Amino acid sequence: MEVIQSISDLREKLKSHRDNGKSIGLVPTMGNLHQGHARLVESAAEENSITVVTIFVNPLQFNPGEDFENYPRTLNEDIEILENLNCDYLFFPKNDEIIERRSSDQALIKAPQISRILCGKSRPGHFDGVATIICILFNIICPTTAYFGLKDYQQYLIIKKLVSDFRIQVGIKGIETARDKNGLALSSRNIFFSSKELKIASQLFFSINEISKALHAGNKNFKILEDKAKRQLSIAGFLPDYCSICHANTLNPADSNDKDLVILVAAHLGSVRLIDNLRVFLNH
Ligand code: AMP
Repeated sequence: MEVIQSISDLREKLKSHRDNGKSIGLVPTMGNLHQGHARLVESAAEENSITVVTIFVNPLQFNPGEDFENYPRTLNEDIEILENLNCDYLFFPKNDEIIERRSSDQALIKAPQISRILCGKSRPGHFDGVATIICILFNIICPTTAYFGLKDYQQYLIIKKLVSDFRIQVGIKGIETARDKNGLALSSRNIFFSSKELKIASQLFFSINEISKALHAGNKNFKILEDKAKRQLSIAGFLPDYCSICHANTLNPADSNDKDLVILVAAHLGSVRLIDNLRVFLNH
């Protein structure tokens, strides 16, 4: 694997692969890699001739007071993980290689309407920052296919819409969430939990699983199910942000005729904001 910091070096390498008809799989990350990221890299490597992973802690997607400074940065460990995953290039650019020094000078993409609800409501501008960086990476790398985790389900839908609205020629693939043995979705921020908090954290998946079971059993009292989950989370020690049962494609609040649903949840535990979701396909 080659570690590359400059845009021109990466462009040059990838151009020669493209000229030779090779497909390029891209996995954008913010580093501190874990088994969840590994799944994305494995899929990219399986389905493409060349795999590029990017590590960039994107300041544009953090709001003031969020954990940009403290975000875990573990380059050496990340390189070791990627060396064992058939990754061909790690692109690890410096901030000013990618964006303007002063964020107010930076052109920003306005993410589509579905970016204003759920996480976008609590983190204004977050998805504009995500969309901007993803577009910049697409412009540099011109991947055949880019891989995103379904753990960040709202982000995944926004990126699919972005690519479709801007006619960007790239395939977008969503990869299932990797979880620990208690169901907690793996996340770079889990390292901030004490062992006691780690046990509590798995309640998040438990709560959405309970909703999923109720939906499968024919319960369509969406608001009651959402409120019950939020109460359970509060009792467990979380500060819930939202728990919403939505249509899986539009993220509109679920209607009783909808069959393709997603349950999305976000809650704070200690200093960490956790998100998770579960797809539900109903046949009644
Ligand atoms: P991040 O480094 O947190 O920005 O994540 C980079 C990519 O990995 C995003 O597409 C995430 O959705 C994905 N990802 C993060 N955690 C997981 C997980 N537990 N399972 C699958 N994908 C994940």
